[in-house]
Amino acid sequence: MPLAYDPAENEHFWEKVRQLPGFPHGEEICLRSMLIESNALFRIQEILRHIGVTTEQPLVVVMDTTPMRRGEDDLKPLVLSVLSQAGWEVQPCVLQPDSSGQVHTDMPHILQVKEHLSSHKAVVSVGSGVVTDIAKHACYLFDQEHGTHLPYLVYQTANSVSAYTSNMAPTLIEGVKRTLPSRYPDALICDLETLRDAPREMTIAGVGDLLAVFVSMADWYLAYRLGMDETWTPLPELLMGPLDELLLQNVKGIRDSSLEAMALLAKLITLGGIAMSLSHATAPLSGFEHIISHTLDLQNEVRSKLLALHGTQIALATVLGAAAYRIFLERFDPEQLDCERCYPESQAMHQWILKTFHPLDPTDRAGGECWSDYRIKLEKWYSVRNKLQEFLAQWEEIRLQVAQRTRSPEQIRKLFAAVGGPTRFSELEPPFEEVEVRFAFLNAPLIRKRFTIGDLFIWFNWDREALWREVWETTQKPLPPE
Ligand SMILES: [Zn+2]
Repeated sequence: MPLAYDPAENEHFWEKVRQLPGFPHGEEICLRSMLIESNALFRIQEILRHIGVTTEQPLVVVMDTTPMRRGEDDLKPLVLSVLSQAGWEVQPCVLQPDSSGQVHTDMPHILQVKEHLSSHKAVVSVGSGVVTDIAKHACYLFDQEHGTHLPYLVYQTANSVSAYTSNMAPTLIEGVKRTLPSRYPDALICDLETLRDAPREMTIAGVGDLLAVFVSMADWYLAYRLGMDETWTPLPELLMGPLDELLLQNVKGIRDSSLEAMALLAKLITLGGIAMSLSHATAPLSGFEHIISHTLDLQNEVRSKLLALHGTQIALATVLGAAAYRIFLERFDPEQLDCERCYPESQAMHQWILKTFHPLDPTDRAGGECWSDYRIKLEKWYSVRNKLQEFLAQWEEIRLQVAQRTRSPEQIRKLFAAVGGPTRFSELEPPFEEVEVRFAFLNAPLIRKRFTIGDLFIWFNWDREALWREVWETTQKPLPPE
């Protein structure tokens, strides 16, 4: 099945995307060179010239310390040597891991890169999601400060996360993940041999991050119909196409890391990044499942544990979200809803949030950060009070629309298992206990201002304990045989 919108077609791609309903006309998009092909590495000099970088301009090359392979070669020295042989002065900027042993997207790392920048230079990042986000956001801050636009090329080293082409940067602030407005890269290079030789778990994680759409697109649509988010457009779902069918057709190729499947995944991931960017929000690919995952990360961070691979954790959180959706769509009865009880007091919520996060962060900084975001959502919820009657009256139609955007938890688990992913939280690295997953599922809605189905369970006074038990059971069952 060919993609309806193929980012590797560049000009032709953007021409078609411009016709989509919801395209933000008048917006400048500097991302004009996307090269997704075999041996793309050896065309990097051509792409740099295409985005206006001359060999007079030193290249700041942002990387971390993780060794990477490409066939027989060490990838990073290979990229550096291709660049210097093409005539560039190469200035490596190496990001060091923090005490957890990992590099996170945080302000100290972003500022470290920014110090290496100046207006006559250009930037290349060689890495996966975190390195890309750090380099991208450093460029963005530099551009803002100096009223300029540094040429920036992303060399994607794994099909691991749908963030490479987005104009936003998820950044840790007070230990809590926040999405900051950032910028597009000018160019993207997906060298299929590099993607093929990336660790298998990273490719599996990339599939997992894409699976989020089966919860996040439903959340976004539900938010729209409740009046909680007016920015919804059909653009992301049209752009990304029939994602589960595309993945299902390619499970074998993904498992075997065929170049063809690596190209398809890279393109889907690119489309995901562009879908978020054109929506000016991560909402299309980040709903209940992402806040569950962020709340799992938060627990690991305070315990100084490593974080599980983002996309793999997302796939399992998506199963929880999908199970919650199925229960809601089957059982929600608008006639039984006591509308007067759907608006919790601000003071009570503030106390509840501080109390919830206090054991994780006794300084209450994390709790305070959560409340500062949550209160915005709560105020919005009060302000659209008059929409609720209309929502309830139209529930049957809305229910069908939402159902189209979700999949059953079994379908999601099966698809993820088919590409080699784990199906239980105890199989993540590091593994989670039920009590931690339960904490994340029940409290994720408290950490962010974006509306998700998780909020409705709170505001509609659902029996969330019973809900949790049922959702958790879904994730523990053995998978039905083929
Ligand atoms: Zn994600």
